[in-house]
Amino acid sequence: MGTRRNMFFSYKNDPAKQKDIENLMSIAKDQGFEIVTNQEEANIIVAVGGDGAFLQAVRRSGFRDDCLYVGVTDEEEASLYCDFNLHNTEEMIEAVHTAGVSVRRYPVIDVHLDGHTHFHCLNELSVRSSIIKTFVIDVFIDELHFETFRGDGIVVATPTGSTAYNRSLNGAVVDPRISCMQISEIASLNNNQFRTLGSSFILGDSRKLTLQIVQDGNDYPIIGLDNEALSIQNIKNIEVEMSGKIIKTVKLKDNSFWHKVQRTFL
Ligand code: NAP
Repeated sequence: MGTRRNMFFSYKNDPAKQKDIENLMSIAKDQGFEIVTNQEEANIIVAVGGDGAFLQAVRRSGFRDDCLYVGVTDEEEASLYCDFNLHNTEEMIEAVHTAGVSVRRYPVIDVHLDGHTHFHCLNELSVRSSIIKTFVIDVFIDELHFETFRGDGIVVATPTGSTAYNRSLNGAVVDPRISCMQISEIASLNNNQFRTLGSSFILGDSRKLTLQIVQDGNDYPIIGLDNEALSIQNIKNIEVEMSGKIIKTVKLKDNSFWHKVQRTFL
């Protein structure tokens, strides 16, 4: 991990886990890392929890591409963003000492709302009706008006997000080495008036996806950015592109994305 040894720990206060986290910090200090309390000073951000905690740590620290993120799960089960286990500190130490770790890079999407607000997502953007009524979205790929969607919503997932919400919508699991976004429908209504592709589709990294919310009364959808919802607002235009940013995480040897997918789902 080189000479960049300032480490920040991101975790939810939980008295049941406090002792284990303090133990982990103390081991890190013994290994020559400096624990910092201001995440802006960190070169390494350690998220303790599960995938949800990892997503929060990345969002709260501003999707930094100049630091390494380390996911540590506190459950027995492995999770997609967490290579380490809070209860197996020996494995962590061994990995650091034997250079059994490398860096993996995860693509991020950029979301522009009505041309003035800008966000990143590591898992996905979700746009969902906030009431028990369908809503209508005109879907554009670059300048092409591709389809008019009517239904519950649309999810735009990154490759690492492909195993999350996207997968529940029968989307494909995508290798994070491919910089792309996958668009999946949530309960589309298909009839002689409204017709959509009906399957997920994947756009390459130079494409732009535009979602125009038709202003017909049901135009206050819930906008989800990973595990955070934006306060409901009247959105007209959502543009999604692959970001110039990437998220770097520590990877254990012989623990590829596909090892994790196999472990989690098969
Ligand atoms: P949550 O609703 O408490 O948990 C969602 C579950 O998805 C958790 O088991 C979480 O793992 C897991 N998860 C998160 N990111 C994943 C990934 N990239 N690959 C595989 N599994 C993943 O919310 P959360 O823990 O804060 O996670 C937020 C995510 O939940 C959203 O980004 C979205 O993808 C997903 N979600 C899914 C559905 C659905 O499938 N119908 C609906 C809404 C949201 P941990 O237990 O390790 O955190």
